[in-house]
Amino acid sequence: MDDANRSSNGKAPRDSRMAFFIMPTTLLRTLRDTASRHLGDEEKVRSLLFECGADCGRVMVRKMEISSEDKVDIGDTITALWIEIGLGRLSVKSAEEHELVVICDDSTEALANGDTGKMICDLTRGYLVGIASTLTGFEWTCTEKSCLSHGDPECVYVLKAK
Ligand SMILES: [Zn+2]
Repeated sequence: MDDANRSSNGKAPRDSRMAFFIMPTTLLRTLRDTASRHLGDEEKVRSLLFECGADCGRVMVRKMEISSEDKVDIGDTITALWIEIGLGRLSVKSAEEHELVVICDDSTEALANGDTGKMICDLTRGYLVGIASTLTGFEWTCTEKSCLSHGDPECVYVLKAK
């Protein structure tokens, strides 16, 4: 490594581009509970988690140096990137040009929050939107149609191009 890649303290900087970590369930639960205490309103909590996820998804795709010009397969790319995120394992149920349905039977976010009787995967939906939007160059929405936390056998996320 040449000197240009060394930081001022003489140590080689850590390359975090490929860094991943297992998303701690405690973090996901604490994040939602704390946001709930501070914001009160459930819709605000959901928006906050969604927006955090969307930002993280966008950053992740940029760090992987993939852009909309690469014309990658969105379903394949999302499932490949998802392995790094630690929010469970995704698989593509159906893929059309402007609609993608993905399922997850071990959503970390749902498992972290337990049985709430509600669709709970707001950070996850955000991540999916951030990734899809950055991969394609246009905006997507994501609705959760069923959720482990709601008592369903799997989480089903429907992504639609705006
Ligand atoms: Zn869910």
